[in-house]
Amino acid sequence: MTAVHVPGNPVIEAGELVSTSPATGVEAGRLPVATDADVRRAVDRARTANEWWAGLGFTGRRERLLRWRALLAKRIEQLAELVHVEGGKPVADAIVEIVTAIEHIDWAARNANRVLGPRRVRSRLILAEFSGHLEYQPYGVVGVIGPWNYPVFTPIGSAAYALAAGNAVVLKPSEYTPVVGQWLVDSFAEVVPEQPVFTAVHGLGEVGAALCRSGVNKLAFTGSTATARKVMAACAETLTPVLIEGGGKDAMIVDSDADLDAAAEACVWGGMTNAGQTCIGIERVYAVDQVFDTFVDKVVARAGRLTVGPEGTDIGPITMPGQVDVIRRHIEAAVSSGGRAVLGGPSAVQPPYVHPTVLVDVPEESAAVREETFGPTLTISRVRDADEALARANALPYGLGGSVFGRRRAVAIARRLRSGMASVNSTLTFAGMSTLPFGGVGDSGFGRIHGEDGLREFGRAKAITRRR
Ligand code: NAD
Repeated sequence: MTAVHVPGNPVIEAGELVSTSPATGVEAGRLPVATDADVRRAVDRARTANEWWAGLGFTGRRERLLRWRALLAKRIEQLAELVHVEGGKPVADAIVEIVTAIEHIDWAARNANRVLGPRRVRSRLILAEFSGHLEYQPYGVVGVIGPWNYPVFTPIGSAAYALAAGNAVVLKPSEYTPVVGQWLVDSFAEVVPEQPVFTAVHGLGEVGAALCRSGVNKLAFTGSTATARKVMAACAETLTPVLIEGGGKDAMIVDSDADLDAAAEACVWGGMTNAGQTCIGIERVYAVDQVFDTFVDKVVARAGRLTVGPEGTDIGPITMPGQVDVIRRHIEAAVSSGGRAVLGGPSAVQPPYVHPTVLVDVPEESAAVREETFGPTLTISRVRDADEALARANALPYGLGGSVFGRRRAVAIARRLRSGMASVNSTLTFAGMSTLPFGGVGDSGFGRIHGEDGLREFGRAKAITRRR
């Protein structure tokens, strides 16, 4: 990458990754870029640390993870400010992100023993004279590669569960938010100073690629589907198991018996929180004909009230400067192919900001309907009924989350959504429930973080039989 100082774009200067605010260009910090040898060394050190960490057992790890959780809670304002400066996210949204992450640390720490610990199982019909023992043993060193859009929540969603399961973790944070990533591992080291159990390596994508090749025992990737394919190809060389949390293009379905005020409120929040830079953000809505016009009016009225700007607003800057061009291209193509902007539109794109944009009558083959836009934009399409909504919602290769508003058929519709997660009469709520698994189908990935499945993802099932 050439050293052009576009606010928010990471640059490398004298072997250091320099991170700046997308809103102001203020430097958030600089960190040494890891070479391939540095990455291998970090993994080797983590392997040694893992023996000690795994040896603490569930109780010892739980106690330390809960101390880390308490430290994050104590420093929540400091961390939120850093997330705001480095990524541009409004402080209030950063607080919500951190609180959610803290809840996951707490749950993983308290439940790891119950879910992964040794238990006895019996064979009922054959081999009745044997007893079976099942336990989930740590993999060893888990590599975690993260994105920038939730720089606390996404790494912790994998790392806290991997750590609770007894693994050491080497994190490669996004090059857009490395300082937040380093803050996380530094805070962990304060409560676990004995060994480098949770550390970070920094740099551009090559450093992530080096982590895939480094001999980690498992790789947990969160990021775009395009990068996920490269991660899988690299991990295939060494048969390193992978967990993929990829991109999304979540749909909302509004049925004829929906509470339209609640649906509009949730749609605006689900589509525009974090400036729409949310993997499970609502990007496209299918509203049935009878309620379409009223619903669109309610969405436009609410979205039109959102404030945009650097401080104390609802919508901050677009974190990745290059993403502004993607958003512009999607809006322009939607409008030039017959779509109508009922709020915002091409003029809403004012880098590094994008004002709320609501598009209707957009052709289904348009990029704004088919590809991840990652901006505060929504397409709302008119459909005959819930069946047509489902057929269109399920037509894309992505399948991360989704939501349904309605009464009578809503749960049945949610079941038929081709997605790993769905909310009924709410949006995004599945991300905050530490008891539920999080992950997608199709191009959105496979494997699960969070909840019991998330803990099992980071433990290898070990079966032992014993003759009585
Ligand atoms: P990205 O794929 O560009 O980068 C993600 C990470 O991968 C970064 O740390 C990057 O440095 C690293 N990377 C890049 N090339 C690599 C390579 N060849 N090998 C290994 N690592 C490499 O994604 P992004 O722009 O940081 O994040 C946004 C994307 O993440 C969106 O598509 C969003 O939907 C997705 N996302 C998904 C979830 C989820 O849980 N499913 C959560 C948050 C974000």
